[in-house]
Amino acid sequence: MKCAKCGKFATKLNSQDLPVCSRHSTVEIKVPSCPNCGLGMTLRESKFGKFWGCKAFPMCDGLKKL
Ligand SMILES: [Zn+2]
Ligand SMILES: [Zn+2]
Repeated sequence: MKCAKCGKFATKLNSQDLPVCSRHSTVEIKVPSCPNCGLGMTLRESKFGKFWGCKAFPMCDGLKKL
């Protein structure tokens, strides 16, 4: 797992259920909005790793790298 804030090795999940390193375990992660539709995004996982995916998926396939 990679820290959703800095991309370093994550050791746990924070209160938002996002993977974080020990340095960022209490930092609130700013959830990006979708570049396509402007909705919020959720953290998703593929075989390539974690990424932000649009909440409206599969209607919208907007995504962002962590
Ligand atoms: Zn971090
Ligand atoms: Zn979208």
